[in-house]
Amino acid sequence: MYDIIIVGAGPAGLTSAIYGCRSMKKVLVLESSAYGGQIVNTLDIENYPVESHISGFDFADRLYNQAKELGAFFKFEEVIGLRDNVHEKEVLTSKNVYKAKTIILATGSKNRKLGLANEDRLIGKGLSYCATCDGAFYKNKCVAVQGGGNTALEDALYLSDICQTVYLIHRNGKFRAEASLVNKLSTKDNIKIIFNSVVTKLNAHDVLESIEVTSDNGSVQTICVDGLFVAIGRVPENKIFSDLIDLDDNGYIVADESCHTNVEGIFVAGDNRTKEVRQLVTATSDGAIAAVEAVKFINK
Ligand code: NAP
Repeated sequence: MYDIIIVGAGPAGLTSAIYGCRSMKKVLVLESSAYGGQIVNTLDIENYPVESHISGFDFADRLYNQAKELGAFFKFEEVIGLRDNVHEKEVLTSKNVYKAKTIILATGSKNRKLGLANEDRLIGKGLSYCATCDGAFYKNKCVAVQGGGNTALEDALYLSDICQTVYLIHRNGKFRAEASLVNKLSTKDNIKIIFNSVVTKLNAHDVLESIEVTSDNGSVQTICVDGLFVAIGRVPENKIFSDLIDLDDNGYIVADESCHTNVEGIFVAGDNRTKEVRQLVTATSDGAIAAVEAVKFINK
């Protein structure tokens, strides 16, 4: 029996583990893939207090080691469901059933897809959701980025140092990304911005050869690219909890800043809950709050 089981080893979940362990609770973190969550794909974090530059990978590594040194247990297994019994809660994985007094759901989010034919087949064959992971494959080539948020602009800026030309395609006429990133775009001659447009077709035999881009006024152009980086936001990973936990229309777990879900003793932390600001600092903040609330629940 664990005191706290945390589902997800991203910044929110790992911070919960630190706070839970420091309250002398027995903590298990379950993660389906690697620790660190989406932040490992960020090349340079510039907006986390105190650290003016740190790579996402180093950040995740330090957080993981901190939680481990404090005594958190880790198991890399995929969670497939939850049970809320009278005296305990259960977390079901593909291999085991784990029992706990409390659960913190910190599953974050996954890449939103364009929803185009061939999209899945072309992953790794010209289509990517991670510029820092795959950008090096496109040295001196032509690529496109779809999106207008921080991720898309960071991707375009990163790729502009590697690739010959970067088309930055955004469905709107104004970027959602923060001003400092928008300003940096004008320093790059090889970023070509295409506003009010979306990629509507992926042309490929074996690998991606070109994209069809349709603008709001209906005009269609075909652009030859070797790579397309999709950076159109993220969707929460909460479906497996929906039998028990209340989700909003967009699939986020309904919770306020206290991180309580509709089930007593089950908490949520990070990008997978309803909130206004989804940032690294708000994910770690949630992690702390959820763990403090879990400890209060156990001690009650
Ligand atoms: P985001 O902020 O949600 O932006 C998604 C972008 O994709 C928006 O520009 C949106 O257009 C566009 N979009 C959404 N659905 C689309 C579709 N179906 N087709 C075409 N375009 C579509 O996502 P994000 O950039 O991945 O960022 C996620 C969160 O992480 C944000 O809170 C962001 O601030 C944070 N983040 C922070 C940093 C940093 O601080 N350095 C870095 C990366 C991410 P509209 O603008 O028209 O809605």
